[in-house]
Amino acid sequence: MIKKNYLLAPGPTPVPIDILLEGAKDTIHHRTPQFKKIFEEAVKGTKEVFRTENELFILASSGTGAMEMAVTNIVNPGEKVLVFSVGKFGERWTEIAKVFGANVVLVEREYGDFYTPEMVEEAIEKNPDAVAVLTTLSETSTGAVMDIEGISRVVKAAGKLIAVDCISGLVAEPLETDKWGLDIVVSGSQKGFMLPPGLAYISLSKAAIEKAQTTKSTSFYFNLKKYLKDPLPWTPAVNLIYQQRAAVDMLLKEGMENVWARHAVMGKATREAVKAMGLELFSKRPGNVLTSVKVPEGVDGGKIVSIMRDEYGVTIAGGQGSMKGNIFRIAHLGYMSDFDVVTALTALEKVLRRLGYSVEFGTGTKVAMEIFEREGV
Ligand SMILES: *Cc1c(COP(=O)(O)O)cnc(C)c1O
Repeated sequence: MIKKNYLLAPGPTPVPIDILLEGAKDTIHHRTPQFKKIFEEAVKGTKEVFRTENELFILASSGTGAMEMAVTNIVNPGEKVLVFSVGKFGERWTEIAKVFGANVVLVEREYGDFYTPEMVEEAIEKNPDAVAVLTTLSETSTGAVMDIEGISRVVKAAGKLIAVDCISGLVAEPLETDKWGLDIVVSGSQKGFMLPPGLAYISLSKAAIEKAQTTKSTSFYFNLKKYLKDPLPWTPAVNLIYQQRAAVDMLLKEGMENVWARHAVMGKATREAVKAMGLELFSKRPGNVLTSVKVPEGVDGGKIVSIMRDEYGVTIAGGQGSMKGNIFRIAHLGYMSDFDVVTALTALEKVLRRLGYSVEFGTGTKVAMEIFEREGV
């Protein structure tokens, strides 16, 4: 049989053909009026996706670069930051902040769990000298989504800066940078934006920029002061910027509310389908970026992922770190719709049967398609 490839992991995600073709266009010089126009349109559209009128920069790096830019420009070595962590990407905030000498106060809960505005409020009360709170919208290692609107409310009430890692969450989950008062929002190209890897984005409020002006930036490449003088301090990823412009155009044509609704129904359909297959969700507050599922008793979790990928061409993700072998993660993120969900579920039924788990074909897809028919995409 021929083998087609289906990319159903939480990044990189599938790239629409029109966007791939944008990247194949002639590379032009970046210090030209022609490129400037394309770049400005890409930034303008990206701001609309972020729902912000704040400064926004597009970086030639993966998402982690934007996290590093956030930390190195608003936190001086020795200053206190509060990090909330419920998985691998919360841990990444801690690692970055520590590398640059911040005094990290870590509020950690077990993988799969989430944190609430009340927990954040309590931690701020205990640490009134903290300058910033580092949070995550969608913890991709577990699928948990945080109430960033509520969390921002308590952080703002305390007069602190809030930075949110929205690398996987943006596009899939509603996010209102300006309405919610988010000082720093970071994201990356290879998740909800439907682009190849290689771009990161960072938006900064006036308060974040003010703090940056008095912070001794510990990074050269990501020094905000340089970006404020010239949004292209170094050679940009020219062809990816063409693709960025095309991708935001596509998102904005669909309309962000519709994009969010599409992800919400894909998330719900996947969750209900795996439950119908007798499986259990891993996350305590699952979102619409991905669904993490506990590996059923007696099944080799690593094999679910490797057989699906290597034999069926369907790439989902396994568990990371201590969750390796215990969970698997199906993304419904970016350039995806009902039939992508059906592909993932069908491949899952097929591999589970092969590994000795009893499930009838169509158990999950029936539930999913009924939800799609009722709630529509
Ligand atoms: C993917 C991801 C990152 C890391 O992004 P890179 O592009 O690999 O640097 C960070 N945080 C979250 C929540 C992510 O999903």
